[in-house]
Amino acid sequence: MTEETIYVQPNPPAPTRPVVFDPAICDGCNNCVETCQTDVFIPNPQEGKPPIIMYPDECWYCGPCVDVCPKKGAIRLNYPLMWRVPWRDKKTGEHFWIGMKNPPPPNTRPQP
Ligand code: SF4
Ligand code: SF4
Repeated sequence: MTEETIYVQPNPPAPTRPVVFDPAICDGCNNCVETCQTDVFIPNPQEGKPPIIMYPDECWYCGPCVDVCPKKGAIRLNYPLMWRVPWRDKKTGEHFWIGMKNPPPPNTRPQP
């Protein structure tokens, strides 16, 4: 079998950045790469480094890549601006938004 060199180029025209890695925390275990059902990532050729976001425009923002990460804070979802819908309580003036850290009832599920 002959060895081949393969070059890859992350999708440059996509304006999206679906997830953000923290290279100080991520150990390159590639759990997120294996889990993503649309193959947004590829493993980093440098061992121990965060995966490469290869196809950002294929992301569904479904979250399993964050859920399977064993290192808290190594990866976080970066929702598009148009998804960050805020609303305000007319009586109190308090602001709320999707993905906020301590959402009010009935949705008390914190941001992943
Ligand atoms: S949010 Fe879903 S589609 Fe996007 S990178 Fe994570 S697992 Fe893949
Ligand atoms: S699962 Fe977490 S620690 Fe592993 S490569 Fe992905 S972001 Fe890094």
